[in-house]
Amino acid sequence: MATIYVVGVTGEGQARIPSVPECLFCRIVSGGVPASLVLESSRTLSFRDISPQAPTHVLVIPKDHYPDLAALAAADGGLLTELVNQAAEVARAEGISGSGYRVVFNTGADAGQAVPHVHAHVLGGRGLGWPPG
Ligand code: AMP
Ligand code: ZN
Repeated sequence: MATIYVVGVTGEGQARIPSVPECLFCRIVSGGVPASLVLESSRTLSFRDISPQAPTHVLVIPKDHYPDLAALAAADGGLLTELVNQAAEVARAEGISGSGYRVVFNTGADAGQAVPHVHAHVLGGRGLGWPPG
């Protein structure tokens, strides 16, 4: 059972639907699409990006479907904090927490968000340019 969280709507306004079959990352959560898993908690999943842009490039997602960062932030229950904690844990597990890393939430078209299931990119293992392209 996936939950669809609508931006700006909380509590009774949230609609529960059985699944989001067209969502790539929901399919990774359900096991329908394979992924190289890095870490997992009861509500979050971390797996390697299929097209890595740095020596470490891991995606951290909530198992429930939220379209973007604002929808995740509007959800109750500390899930955003849990997601960010898992991103930090990924960095530790990958050995880059000392050298430094970047956590990116691409949001919307101008940022190039291609998958509308919120995900944190954890990037590191090399010097990262700033500003980003
Ligand atoms: P974004 O552009 O922020 O939406 O990021 C989506 C990311 O998902 C991209 O970096 C893709 O390389 C990555 N991606 C797409 N398909 C897969 C997949 N099957 N497994 C892992 N990562 C994927
Ligand atoms: Zn999804």
